[in-house]
Amino acid sequence: MRNYRCTGSAAKVNLALAGLPKFPDVSARIHIGPGIDYLERAFDAAKYGEFSTEPYMDVAIPSLSDPSLAPKGAHILSIHVQFAPYQLKNGDWNLQRERFGDAVVKALSAYAPNLPELIVHRQVITPHDLEETYGLTGGHIFHGDHALDQLFTFRPLLGWSQYRTPIRGLYLCGAGTHPGGGITGAPGANASREILKDLR
Ligand SMILES: Cc1cc2nc3c(=O)[nH]c(=O)nc-3n(C[C@H](O)[C@H](O)[C@H](O)COP(=O)(O)OP(=O)(O)OC[C@H]3O[C@@H](n4cnc5c(N)ncnc54)[C@H](O)[C@@H]3O)c2cc1C
Repeated sequence: MRNYRCTGSAAKVNLALAGLPKFPDVSARIHIGPGIDYLERAFDAAKYGEFSTEPYMDVAIPSLSDPSLAPKGAHILSIHVQFAPYQLKNGDWNLQRERFGDAVVKALSAYAPNLPELIVHRQVITPHDLEETYGLTGGHIFHGDHALDQLFTFRPLLGWSQYRTPIRGLYLCGAGTHPGGGITGAPGANASREILKDLR
């Protein structure tokens, strides 16, 4: 288990906005990742212990579909950011938090120029916050890398991939079990099937 790779590289920036930012030519869901080279460079930064200043961003404006989330005319905007390494080469995340938030806002403003002037409040959730606040070990949003040696019968460990553990009556489910992270519901469905088998 000590060799299981589980340090995350994703962070979040949530913004409270006084109005709707103008994203020219964009409708519902916003992904910023203009090309393979851009994405590779964004990942390179994390490989060397730095957060990406031109990151991949997955942006949602939940108040568009549920206006009750913000006062009339105002909005909330949530940015899923990659890549932000769990371990920073220089300094800890608490010291880099605002610098990271600034970099993300700057990068997104290239696509929505009026964004900075609308920001009323900003929340930056670092990989360390994901660990400390939400219990995600290593701040890993998928509970462990999706790599060949950590998937299928290897997830989370050889011999434990059928949701049972060596402790009788203790089962595993969730992203750390087959088929891994993602909003599939499959780990839970599979685990309950195994539990039902044992109850029969
Ligand atoms: C910031 C972030 C961004 C992500 N982005 C994406 C994405 O873009 N696409 C994607 O596919 N995946 C994404 N993921 C991963 C995905 O959300 C998870 O892999 C997935 O939600 C795991 O599903 P789950 O049902 O196993 O667990 P969860 O969704 O965590 O559900 C577990 C539930 O069990 C409840 N619970 C816990 N303990 C108990 C208890 N003792 N009794 C009763 N209930 C309990 C919890 O409250 C929770 O509701 C992201 C994750 C994070 C954190």
